Amino acid sequence: MRCSRCRRLAVINLRAHRLALCERHFVQRFLEVVERAIRRYSLMHRSSKVLVAVSGGKDSLALWDALTELGYSADGLYIDLGIEKQDYSRISREKAEAFAEQRGLRLRVFSLKEEYGSAMPELRRGSRELCSVCGIVKRHVMNRVALEGGYEVLATGHNLDDEASVLLANLLRWNTALAARQAPRVEAWHEKLRPKVKPLCLLSERETATYAFVRGIDYVSELECPFSAGATSIAVKEALNRIEEHSPGTKLYFYTQFLKHREIFAGEEEEKAPVRECSSCGFPAGGELCSFCRLLLKSRLGGEKGDNRADSRVG
Ligand code: SF4
Ligand SMILES: [Zn+2]
Ligand SMILES: [Zn+2]
Repeated sequence: MRCSRCRRLAVINLRAHRLALCERHFVQRFLEVVERAIRRYSLMHRSSKVLVAVSGGKDSLALWDALTELGYSADGLYIDLGIEKQDYSRISREKAEAFAEQRGLRLRVFSLKEEYGSAMPELRRGSRELCSVCGIVKRHVMNRVALEGGYEVLATGHNLDDEASVLLANLLRWNTALAARQAPRVEAWHEKLRPKVKPLCLLSERETATYAFVRGIDYVSELECPFSAGATSIAVKEALNRIEEHSPGTKLYFYTQFLKHREIFAGEEEEKAPVRECSSCGFPAGGELCSFCRLLLKSRLGGEKGDNRADSRVG
């Protein structure tokens, strides 16, 4: 297969775009699409101070690499969740650190164990799913580090497959409140929070994997997290992949047309309870404590019965 632009050997065939590309033209196009998403959805300014949440996986490292290539000022944040099973946190932390060192970039490492004395598995008290606990922890830490470090925007490596599958999962359940909140840029609703942006939202997982490979990025597979197996999101992604295989371009069309018409979900957002400040950490909370501090408290109390309701709005 030959590159559609220069006839050199192609590294990828993008059926959705009827485009085969060599390494050089693929990287060029990848960066163009990242820049297009940033402009089209007003994700950030050229001068914005950006904090990229890096997991050690391909998407977040590809994003950090691309933003740096495009000339954005971006530091990385690695949250060490303390997942010892299969050495997951240690290995992914090493990948993130090696990436930053090779490129002379600044990586902030935030260790849950060092900061709070608790790691991920111990924080799972009560009935919550581990991945949902993980989400609360990551949101809290990202906001805290962004605020303390003076960052204006938080960037995450969510790609088109992630966004299209979340959208499909929400629509399958007619969860219009969640669909109404889904966007490439989610605005901050409190002065202590920062907007969250997803500059890879127009690029598929296959494209980010190819970009990471071509750019020589050594990463840990997201699926290697020992707790990811069986997640509903994986089943929805697989279903979407089968549709994409049959009709290339479906994922991109589904997601971009949603963004074009998302005003049909306007007004579906959940009513926000009056905002309070968490009495422990000072971040916005729906009650006396924010959901993160409730998790911490419960893990310290050894799982005693407590308020299981989460304030999902935090972050
Ligand atoms: S798969 Fe692992 S890293 Fe991802 S949210 Fe779940 S526990 Fe956290
Ligand atoms: Zn080419
Ligand atoms: Zn708190």
